[in-house]
Amino acid sequence: INRIGVFTSGGDAPGMNAAIRAVVRTAIYNDIAVTGIYHGYQGMIEGSFIEMNRRSVSSIIQKGGTILKSARCLEFKTKEGRQLAYNNLQEQGIDALVAIGGDGTFTGADFFSKEYDIPVMCIPGTIDNDLYGTDYTLGYDTANNTVIEAIDKIRDTASSHSRVFFVEVMGRDSGCIALNAGIGGGAEAILLPELNSGIDSLIEELEFAESRKKTSMIVIIAEGDKNGGAYNVAKIVKEKINHLDIKVSILGHLQRGGAPSSFDRVLATRMGYNAVNELIKGNTRGTLGIRGNQIIITPLEEALNNKEFKLDEELLEIANVMNK
Ligand code: ADP
Repeated sequence: INRIGVFTSGGDAPGMNAAIRAVVRTAIYNDIAVTGIYHGYQGMIEGSFIEMNRRSVSSIIQKGGTILKSARCLEFKTKEGRQLAYNNLQEQGIDALVAIGGDGTFTGADFFSKEYDIPVMCIPGTIDNDLYGTDYTLGYDTANNTVIEAIDKIRDTASSHSRVFFVEVMGRDSGCIALNAGIGGGAEAILLPELNSGIDSLIEELEFAESRKKTSMIVIIAEGDKNGGAYNVAKIVKEKINHLDIKVSILGHLQRGGAPSSFDRVLATRMGYNAVNELIKGNTRGTLGIRGNQIIITPLEEALNNKEFKLDEELLEIANVMNK
């Protein structure tokens, strides 16, 4: 390998910059040149490249977002688009890729590397933690920390005014952030898409919490929950228990940003380092992951064929026990 192209694609996540930095520095340490590709697959098609050196990744390990920018690119889903991308990579002398992103990014990388036989390693970057082949994706830990900080602040007002807060958190179809931050923030109830428990059981839980004279109640609602979002759930609950003073807070995009946590920085650095070393060893079409504190590689095809993502059973049980 002479030159690695590195890019971020799909939704941004804290830790992406730390991964870019690790890819660049590991490659250069091994005498491999690195080209940064702007705006993911879009930049590949448009020829938006930058030569990277050790200095171009100085002071980015602590920054959220991605210095290489990200984009969603429909053109890459077409054969013509991928042909343009490949021609540009060839012109630049790029003979291997490291893709940092989510499920869509991995699908594109899989297609592309089969079509043009270009080695590629993928690094999972998404706050949703919904990818197969890793216990943790980059950005997930930071997002959890952001959410529990928000819950703590909301708790101050909830306790002062004896109010109930419904807090909606991100995660797309995954309830990982809701479950984890719900436990960490001491939520009285958590609504998860995976469980699809109805509003009746939430009402029971709230009545039970009230019977114990709780001064504040916080309900975490995952954005993928099937009951129509936090406002709708609040409306239905209010109709059933009308003395409750319910406030709704949708945390939104603040969960995607911010300085990556120590965990995300170190994980990103380990993944970036290993991605380059796998390419050097001749490995391709793999996705990086962490299991039992070991970095592991899962074949892309296996990762993409296993979309059924399960929540940790023990965490589910713990969330239940904490509120009974
Ligand atoms: P994420 O990587 O966060 O899941 P997206 O689903 O938007 O984000 O995917 C990122 C990009 O990956 C898309 O904009 C597109 O360029 C590329 N991509 C996704 N699916 C495919 C596919 N089936 N074939 C080729 N490229 C794809």
